[in-house]
Amino acid sequence: MTHTDQLRGIRTKPRREVLISGASIAGPALAFWLNRHGFAVTVVEKAGTLRDGGYPIDVRGTALEVVRRMGILPRLRDAHIDLRRLTFLDGDGSEVASVNPHTVTGGVAGQDLEVRRGDLTNALHTAVRDDVEFLFNDSIDTLDQSGHGVDVTFRGGSRRTFDMVFGADGLHSRTREFLFGPEEQFHRYLGYCFAGFTMRNTFGLSHELMMWNTPGRAAALYAVGDNDDVHAFLNFAHPEPPFDAFRSPDAQRDLVAAVFADAGWEVPGMLAAMHDADDLFFDGVSQIRMPRWSSGRVALVGDAAYAPSFLTGQGSSLALVGAYMLADSLAERDHAAGFAAYDRRTREFVTVNQEQVGEGDATLFPTTSRALEQRNDMLRNLSAMPSAEGRPAHSALTLPA
Ligand SMILES: Cc1cc2nc3c(=O)[nH]c(=O)nc-3n(C[C@H](O)[C@H](O)[C@H](O)COP(=O)(O)OP(=O)(O)OC[C@H]3O[C@@H](n4cnc5c(N)ncnc54)[C@H](O)[C@@H]3O)c2cc1C
Repeated sequence: MTHTDQLRGIRTKPRREVLISGASIAGPALAFWLNRHGFAVTVVEKAGTLRDGGYPIDVRGTALEVVRRMGILPRLRDAHIDLRRLTFLDGDGSEVASVNPHTVTGGVAGQDLEVRRGDLTNALHTAVRDDVEFLFNDSIDTLDQSGHGVDVTFRGGSRRTFDMVFGADGLHSRTREFLFGPEEQFHRYLGYCFAGFTMRNTFGLSHELMMWNTPGRAAALYAVGDNDDVHAFLNFAHPEPPFDAFRSPDAQRDLVAAVFADAGWEVPGMLAAMHDADDLFFDGVSQIRMPRWSSGRVALVGDAAYAPSFLTGQGSSLALVGAYMLADSLAERDHAAGFAAYDRRTREFVTVNQEQVGEGDATLFPTTSRALEQRNDMLRNLSAMPSAEGRPAHSALTLPA
């Protein structure tokens, strides 16, 4: 039987209709694979369009095989940022060490990808947009599982019934809240907050990242190419989540400005740019850890279910692998058996990647002078080392055929 015959065979079965909330990484990847398995897929996204550009994200290990099977690996290779240097600076702006990025991230030179988040989202969307219904500028208002499917009302006013619904709506997932209640139960705050925004590249930086540190504070400038803009990050230790700041951009700017008030290097200029930035993104650094990822006919995928935090650099890879495993688990099973298989076959990979925090990444942001000294010694030694071989956690799952 040819592949086309197989597809035709699958397509003659009644198509199960499903809804995915969120069109970033997990959502379109899940849409792609569910469509391949014969599902009729609708994706609802609260934003008006796909968001392009954006900060750099990594695709590594098992996730590379997911994008290869989707046929988008060549396109992503073209979009690869090719970061060439990480330079660490002391409080007075003097250089501590300049290292090959892979020695710090555990990436593999020539294999792993680093692309802008928008480039990945665009590639995923392009791969699936002709086969899947996308509803932008809308979102789920209510979910009711009391009947034989999931009755959904949309913010835009329409009502529809689906066989299953998936939450791919990120760290602060509303789908998760519908199913399981408040985020606090699953939120593991890692003790830092960060602000990210773009600013003019007046520094002459190209394909490189510069990071300034004092205990508990880091300021980074990340030039993804030779463009006119750089990504700026201000990361700082904050023992308790600043709940007031989460609700107000003005409070966020005030908090960041107060924390970095006496900072040197380029930080004063960064604070001025933050003040005027129209793309400021502020959040706590946290993970989502849940004992179950589904309830009834609704399941979660990506950051909504198991955000690992940017300290692991594995959020996008978990979203891609999780989407693949969820769709594969449902291909020949009903929702209950499929969701159980998804959990059984994916959880260990998720856990081992979430536990990467502390193995080199969180140590990039030491909170005491002594820990900062130790980190700097480690970086000076790293600068003499060749590129790493990759962390086992990144490839700790072999995809089913
Ligand atoms: C500053 C920063 C740096 C990062 N660096 C890295 C890195 O180096 N490497 C890495 O792998 N990962 C990194 N990450 C994490 C990575 O971005 C996420 O893990 C990844 O985007 C998760 O994808 P997702 O599709 O699950 O969720 P998201 O990308 O969060 O997407 C959720 C989508 O759902 C939509 N949505 C939200 N609510 C609703 C709703 N109610 N209805 C409909 N739609 C909704 C949103 O608009 C969005 O499109 C970083 C994250 C940040 C913030």
